[in-house]
Amino acid sequence: MNSSDMLTTDPFEPEDGDHLKEECGVFGIIGDPEAGPQTALGLHALQHRGQEAAGMVTFDGRQFNSHRGMGQVAENFGSESVMNLLKGHMAIGHTRYATTGGTILRNVQPLFAELEPGGFAIAHNGNLTNALTLRGELKARGCLFQSTSDTEVVIHLMAISEESTFEDRLVDALRQIEGAYSFVCLTPSSVIGARDPLGVRPLVLGRMDNAWILCSESCALDIIGAEYVRDVEPGEVVILSTEGVRSLKPFPKQHPRFCIFEYIYFARPDTVSEGHNVYEVRKRIGEQLAKESPVDCDIVVPVPDSGVAAALGFSAVSGVPFEMGIIRSHYVGRTFIQPTDKSRHSGVRRKHNPNKAVLEGKRVVLVDDSIVRGTTSKKIVEMVRQAGATEVHMRISSPPTAHPCFYGIDTPDYDKLLAAQHDVAGMAKLLGVDSLAFISLDGLYKALGEAKRDAAHPQYCDACFTGTYPLPLTDRLAGSKPKQLSLLNEELV
Ligand code: AMP
Repeated sequence: MNSSDMLTTDPFEPEDGDHLKEECGVFGIIGDPEAGPQTALGLHALQHRGQEAAGMVTFDGRQFNSHRGMGQVAENFGSESVMNLLKGHMAIGHTRYATTGGTILRNVQPLFAELEPGGFAIAHNGNLTNALTLRGELKARGCLFQSTSDTEVVIHLMAISEESTFEDRLVDALRQIEGAYSFVCLTPSSVIGARDPLGVRPLVLGRMDNAWILCSESCALDIIGAEYVRDVEPGEVVILSTEGVRSLKPFPKQHPRFCIFEYIYFARPDTVSEGHNVYEVRKRIGEQLAKESPVDCDIVVPVPDSGVAAALGFSAVSGVPFEMGIIRSHYVGRTFIQPTDKSRHSGVRRKHNPNKAVLEGKRVVLVDDSIVRGTTSKKIVEMVRQAGATEVHMRISSPPTAHPCFYGIDTPDYDKLLAAQHDVAGMAKLLGVDSLAFISLDGLYKALGEAKRDAAHPQYCDACFTGTYPLPLTDRLAGSKPKQLSLLNEELV
């Protein structure tokens, strides 16, 4: 394999290193002579899903070529020397945000292995909830793990499978794993996509001339000028080859549970997911929030960028003017998406600046998408008061995040989740706001076009708000507790 792994140090990392939770973006393309550059563009559009590392594997008809490195997509795929290596008409790529520990290169995806039928690369968005259990069993059978990534269990399960083809081996592995996943895989003759049976994580299919594309979000199709064809169905395995698209449905149909947090925060606003434009959903949440929790004030100010669409909705319904009272620098990453505690704290300061001329003497309602640890909100509220606001109210376009996510969205454990530790009044006090309100769970479902949340068969995965986990938490129940972030502002503890 032609490979240019960019990290020089690859220190030994303990078992509980950085493999437990990932927020990621995946992309795959077949049938384009410039599959490498197209994948780089696709990954660029998915940069918001992970900024810590990026990787790509191509196949040029003769050999696999790869480049994986720390840092953002442009840092990795911006140079001619790297792109010259990534020849071929088929490729897969990955943007990664590992949430715990220091990232090590051997965990950067796509992972690659020589299996019995040939070379195989895999990239994963999601989190496998029985990966540690399977890993222990596989190690006991003699499997030698190369990384601490949960994704690697899939490769080993495929390696020992008694099936013959890549796709049958993959399905065999899928039957044994639990959790949330969208995979894109590369073989010498196909790009394969697979989505977990509940469809928690997104995966869409696109088309451009003779090429077929799989990616986490439709915005990655837009950037290369491809057409959105459809969402890959929950539990579906799609095989893209020169003959077109084949679909396997190896699992019994289940009630789908797409991640509702993708709409609230994670997906890019211009993405269309499961038929909903994310920006429109966020605006409708803001409208609903204004109906549920109006407030007497002078200006509606979004916490940019994540609160902008909801603030527009809030302003439209309340009739209170929308103002950019906080300016965001676009030259720093998302507050969360940085590897160490220190950088996360300073990240908030580097990222937002109050627009004094707008805020001075005003009663302000701040609109943001979520409160996780409260770090961001507390600093923003302080900042807005210092800029001369006479009242600061806060409206949040999600219900309180009171439970950790185990399915691929980075959230800390209960002890660090503000809403798990305090009621709304307690949170308001800690954040220093004059009033605080969150959208109701039914209000959120209404914004997604549902009459309300169906308690017997919830239409989405909303475990972070309700604690109702739709997929088994085998590793957690077996006592392995993922290492969690410890980012809560010290003053708030
Ligand atoms: P916190 O300071 O912990 O309360 O962070 C909350 C802010 O981080 C929210 O306003 C979101 O914009 C953003 N955010 C929420 N959840 C996540 C996540 N899982 N990953 C990255 N950023 C997030």
